[in-house]
Amino acid sequence: MKNKLLSVLVTILCFQVGIAKPKLPKKIIFLIGDGMGLAQISGALADNTVTNAFERFKVIGLSKTKSSDNYVTDSGAGATVFSIGRKTYNGAIGVDSNGKEQDGLFEMLTDKGWGTGVVVTSSITHATPAAFYAHVGSRKSEDEIAEFLIRNHCDVAIGGGIKFFKDRKDKRDLLEELTEKGYKTIADSSEIKPIDAAKLIYLLAYDGMKKKQDGRGDYLKKATEIAIHNLSKNEEGFFLMVEGSQIDWGGHVNDFEYMKSELLDFNQTLNAVLDYAAKDKKTLVVVTADHETGGLSLLENKENKNTFKVNYSTLGHSGIMVPVFAFGPGAELFSGIYENTEIHYKFKKLLKIK
Ligand code: MG
Ligand code: ZN
Repeated sequence: MKNKLLSVLVTILCFQVGIAKPKLPKKIIFLIGDGMGLAQISGALADNTVTNAFERFKVIGLSKTKSSDNYVTDSGAGATVFSIGRKTYNGAIGVDSNGKEQDGLFEMLTDKGWGTGVVVTSSITHATPAAFYAHVGSRKSEDEIAEFLIRNHCDVAIGGGIKFFKDRKDKRDLLEELTEKGYKTIADSSEIKPIDAAKLIYLLAYDGMKKKQDGRGDYLKKATEIAIHNLSKNEEGFFLMVEGSQIDWGGHVNDFEYMKSELLDFNQTLNAVLDYAAKDKKTLVVVTADHETGGLSLLENKENKNTFKVNYSTLGHSGIMVPVFAFGPGAELFSGIYENTEIHYKFKKLLKIK
């Protein structure tokens, strides 16, 4: 009784002096546009033909992306930082700058009883998703990365990569092993279908997924909805990472139309996620990039001044800060300018993980 009274008083006092405690989310959906800088967002959404999901956010920050050994990060180091909260070397997956395995968010979330998942438009063993559940010295070891799913820290994974599970150098059939661990496993390259399973490995391509331009359809939005449906079975809460993997791939070949189609696909998924979060009210949505790709700039087009000329300056990544957008309980923590490591600690604060 006394404690209750005290807590009421403290709450009133905090309210009076304006110390707002951040509201804690019950679910977190973290969307990564690989290689998605401001020029990509501006350029892809310039013609205003769809609802710009990014304009639905009120809280915006900037993240500094350098890795431990390079001002210009790669996607391995760029995603590992979100998972383990430490800068590491380019190419690393879930290991620190000394190559030492460090617990990632998914391990911490599993200990807390939360569900975890990844949905991507690459193979599920590609650098960005891998950094959340695997720990290897090099992103190239995709056979080895796949084995980490057996550790049971990722409940739902949807994307490509059949070959890393069923056509491996060691001849193991990892999908069979995962079935024994309680997963529903599917390797089926036809159109995505709704699947009801709390633990699900759903592979829809031999390696990476098709390009949006080659008929991938609404795969990303549907896969995200399937992941949310299945992860919602966990009453404690869930953390889902959704990646627009190929925004980066379009940048690497300096193909603006490829990048744009991937970004519009990501935008459509983001709109669906925001609709869900706005209704649900317990879901935090955070969107960012690991880095920018292509050194893209939008220059004056002398022939048509209503539009722009696309200018790429590299086939690689660039070191410019990337935007962070946040919506929902705890979103206010993400405003400001900070190192990408901070994103990990902001999540941990909201998850009450020490
Ligand atoms: Mg990626
Ligand atoms: Zn890249």
